[in-house]
Amino acid sequence: MSFSNETKNELARIIPEKECCQRAELSGLLNIGGTFTWDDSQNEMVWELSTENAATARKVFKLAKALLAVPVEVTILNKRQLKKNKVFIVRARQERDEMFLMQELGLFNGQGRRVERVPESLVHRRCCKRCYLRGAFLARGSVNKPEGEYHLEITCPSLVTAQDVAKLLEKLGIAARVSERKSGIVLYIKESESIVDFLRVAGASTALLDFENVRIVKSVRNQVNRLVNCETANLEKTVAASWRQTETITRLIEKVGLEGIPESIRDVAILRLKNPDLSLKELGGMMEPPLSKSGIAYRMRRLEAMARRILGDTI
Ligand SMILES: [Zn+2]
Repeated sequence: MSFSNETKNELARIIPEKECCQRAELSGLLNIGGTFTWDDSQNEMVWELSTENAATARKVFKLAKALLAVPVEVTILNKRQLKKNKVFIVRARQERDEMFLMQELGLFNGQGRRVERVPESLVHRRCCKRCYLRGAFLARGSVNKPEGEYHLEITCPSLVTAQDVAKLLEKLGIAARVSERKSGIVLYIKESESIVDFLRVAGASTALLDFENVRIVKSVRNQVNRLVNCETANLEKTVAASWRQTETITRLIEKVGLEGIPESIRDVAILRLKNPDLSLKELGGMMEPPLSKSGIAYRMRRLEAMARRILGDTI
């Protein structure tokens, strides 16, 4: 299964408890992924959302039933000719009298016109911002597996939508860019740190750990190579110790994953990997709360002891 799909499965399983959040998430799902057509003969508006992710379809079904008070149907399409996955289509009809429910989701205005902007009133709270973004990603998002090129994107129905979603991300400290492609308007994130932040904000904690594991190992390999290339002639004591520590930590993570390292020493491991050129004392100063030199040395010894226990004589 693709990393995108795994991430979506995880995100789709989260059903927000608060109604404000449910509303925000359904709004994000439908604004980004929904299509809407007026059926004038019936005086109804028909909306649908199609997705290849079954869990996402289930989530739209659940949220729409709870918030829109209409019968919702799901149909499954087999893309046989392409040997591709199934496509799930969630569809419902909204009578004109009940269009106020669509207004409440910020999807239509009082005149029955489609609104593509992100509704400010629904994403006022931080909890709701996160849910809106989760909905947007589930609807039309994808993320590369961390082994490859870092890339997360959401295809948006219009430029204003993409710009609004980018602003929403900015408020949460995540930088995203918008570009117009043949396939549509795409909002994307390229920096690995920002992708990690996005996954965290959306609530994909398992995908986040998987991503971090690969990312850290990748970046340490680069750093170690750099050190080897430039400083072989004169490795200072600090660098030599750090080199040994980063190597040990990297191999430990490859073996047990970040989540396999006890929380009390995980932070030290991450900090060391991110700052291979700092002394232990300097690392201690970066901890929150700061640790004395002996405090951080103690934790580093625990890490090394754990590595010896798990990796045996090979270190
Ligand atoms: Zn909320």
